Amino acid sequence: KYPPTGGTAALKQAIGEKFSRENGLDFAADEILVSTGAKQVLFNAFMATLDPGDEVIVTAPYWTSYTDIVKVCDAQPKVLECGEEDGFLLTPERLRAAIGPRTRWLLLNSPSNPAGAAYSPEALRALMDVVAETPNLWVMSDDIYEHILYDGAAFATPAKVAPQIAERCLTVNGVSKAYSMTGWRIGYGAGPAPLIKAMQVVQGQSTSGASSISQAAAVAALSGPQDLVTERCAVFQQRRDIVVEALNNCPGLVCRKPQGAFYVLPSCAGLFGRKTPDGQAIQDDMGFARFLLAASGVAIVPGAAFGAPGHFRLSYAYATEELEDACRRIQGACQALA
Ligand code: PLP
Repeated sequence: KYPPTGGTAALKQAIGEKFSRENGLDFAADEILVSTGAKQVLFNAFMATLDPGDEVIVTAPYWTSYTDIVKVCDAQPKVLECGEEDGFLLTPERLRAAIGPRTRWLLLNSPSNPAGAAYSPEALRALMDVVAETPNLWVMSDDIYEHILYDGAAFATPAKVAPQIAERCLTVNGVSKAYSMTGWRIGYGAGPAPLIKAMQVVQGQSTSGASSISQAAAVAALSGPQDLVTERCAVFQQRRDIVVEALNNCPGLVCRKPQGAFYVLPSCAGLFGRKTPDGQAIQDDMGFARFLLAASGVAIVPGAAFGAPGHFRLSYAYATEELEDACRRIQGACQALA
């Protein structure tokens, strides 16, 4: 049978328990929406709230879908570049300067795709102080990488660190990354009931809601033993260390150690102007990605796709042996540049 549009009672309960157990947040059933992935949660929220000409603050480097979803909703992404010198994080001063009369949302993602940057509770609180000064600004927090956070860092989410803005906050999460359940397509959002209701209206006229089978699987993931989540995080941390060290040994690459998620975003700007064995100069990150694919068979994503030109993204959600092989190939390719 069709499950309820906004999610089954069992899954909403499991999500409510997750928020209370892991984040110290309390949400009632009408403050939770289950969707076909976190991506649909974001889409529903923007569709439900944005008018043409509205703005959404997106920090770069950003997950490529953010800006495109905002544009599909006829609104404008206001991209704030957060450089390597700021740890790819937004500062309160830059946020304050960027807020205009049409700014509806601040979209945050911590730990982030693609930079692996994560806000400390203090840094996030400082940003939320700025949000608190701006009554019409809402916060959307994409917490999908919550459980992939390294070196004992504490996870922080806006609704928890700044209860004064919780009434203007949508917390987005899902089972894709925490439980490696990307194909099951279950994400969820929690926030004020009127917003959730509006998002459910959008969902009701698009997918009618998530598959009941996947929802049952998500209940099992959220309510079952959680040891695997920490075990997997430790494995990702080892892989991060292997990849960061190997890439920093490649002539011309500089790789910052990410704090979370499973991506590195190294700079390849040191290779620009160098020549490939067939005499082509590497001009930009796209050129480097093309060269690397042809020379070594390793696929990376050029940083320009994430608003981070001069960089590239490499996912280390692969077996350690595959990563070691890929890094050796990248080293060989970089050494072949004149
Ligand atoms: N948010 C971020 C930052 C992501 O990187 C991804 C997937 O790569 C998603 C959301 C999508 O999550 P879901 O699979 O739940 O739609």
